[in-house]
Parts: sequence; structure tokens; C-alpha cells
Amino acid sequence: MLEDAQIERYSRQIILPRVGGRGQEKLLRSQVYVDGDGLLATAALFYLVAAGVGTIGVARAKAAPIFSALAEQSLGPDEQPLAHTLRRLNPDCSIVTHLDEDEQPAHHYDLVLATTDALHDGWYARHKPFVWGAASGEGACLFVSRGDRADRPCLRCLFSEHPPRPYRATPPRRGEKTVPDPLDSPYALFLGTQLVTEALKIILQPEAESPPKLLAYTFPAFHCTEQTVEKNPHCSVCSTQAHACPEPRRRN
Ligand SMILES: [Zn+2]
Repeated sequence: MLEDAQIERYSRQIILPRVGGRGQEKLLRSQVYVDGDGLLATAALFYLVAAGVGTIGVARAKAAPIFSALAEQSLGPDEQPLAHTLRRLNPDCSIVTHLDEDEQPAHHYDLVLATTDALHDGWYARHKPFVWGAASGEGACLFVSRGDRADRPCLRCLFSEHPPRPYRATPPRRGEKTVPDPLDSPYALFLGTQLVTEALKIILQPEAESPPKLLAYTFPAFHCTEQTVEKNPHCSVCSTQAHACPEPRRRN
């Protein structure tokens, strides 16, 4: 049951037909893991906190860079400033830091919101939704991989290895053109809202049907294109053969 202060805090959200009081209570009970750093992950963290997601997990190693991006100042490796800042914004939310991203604390969380594909395969194997997005100075893309829905395509059906540049958060190979750091992209704030919206939709209506699509935005026009994604019967992660294996190979 929501308290008076919570009804006031979330009033603009509660009046939405698909949220309401029960939906808000669901959000407060929900747990989301954020994998990523930079402005995009920072924006997503803030929007999750503002929406009242009850528990938000981050990798300890990435917490300090996220807060540095926020505060535009260099901080030590202690993750407490980040947690403190977010808790002050909304005391209903708990920020949980994990030792490192390899820990993959999937069983604690309802879904992951990621700005890199590094953890996709492991979370898919644990049947967790994976909301993925990446942004550069020129464009952004977004895809939801439903590990909880075996009939849906996964991120590897779309990109069998890694997403192409500029949507890959790994150093460029020799001779490969460098791209602007997403930290410098004001469009990361825009994509952050899109990622959190997808995460909230899954929490509020996990059974709702929405076509599996890759959304791609080009900047500065904000032109959006949709690409329907089909399930790949030979996908190394979500095909029947892949499911026959106890643990898919891990990607970095
Ligand atoms: Zn797949």
C-alpha cells in the first residue's frame, strides 16, 4: 500500500492508465540491473530512480565512472557517493553495488538494462529480459531481447557476434575509424529515457505483445526507423540447439 508521501511523489505517474497505484507498487517491488557506464547509463539510472524502481544494481567497477560523468569531477573508487546521490533523489530506491560485472547476479533481478552487449548471453540463459541500447554522436539504436520468451528473437539473432560500430563499446581495431565517445553525446539522455521506458513496460506488463524490432535513430534529425527482427533458427544463443546446451559460451 502506497503511503501519502509516495502518492504525492509518483502522482504524475499514477494517473497514467497503465500504471495506477498497483503499477507503482509493482515498480517499487521491482529490481533492475544496469550494465554500462558513461552518460547513457547515468541517465538511465536517474530515470529508473525517478520512476521508483525499488532496487537498482550496478557493477562496483562501473559505479565510480558513472558518478564521475554525472558530477563532472574525478572521484575515488568508493561507490557510496553515487548511491548517496541517487538515494537522496528518491529514498524509496536502493542502489546495490556488486563486486564486478562477471558476478552476473541475474537471479536477484527482474531484467537488465545495458549499454553493452557483454552480458547478454549469460542473462538470456537465465531467462531474463535484456534491454539494450547504444548511442554515438550520430545515432542510437535500441533492442529488447526477451530471455523470458523463448519464441522471441534475441540480440544474437540480430548481431551474431557483436553489434557493429558505432554501437559497440569496445576499443577500435587497428585501422578502424574511431567514433565520438557516447559520453559526449547529448543524445544519450534521449536514449536513456527510451531504455527506461522499455524496462518499465516489461515490469508493468510482462505479458504484453509488442513486435520484436530494432529501433534506430539518426541525429540530429531524430529520424527513427524500425527493423523487424526475426528469430534465427541457427542462433548460437536462443535456437533449440543452443537451449540443449547447459551454459552458452560467454562473450566479452
Ligand atoms: Zn537468438
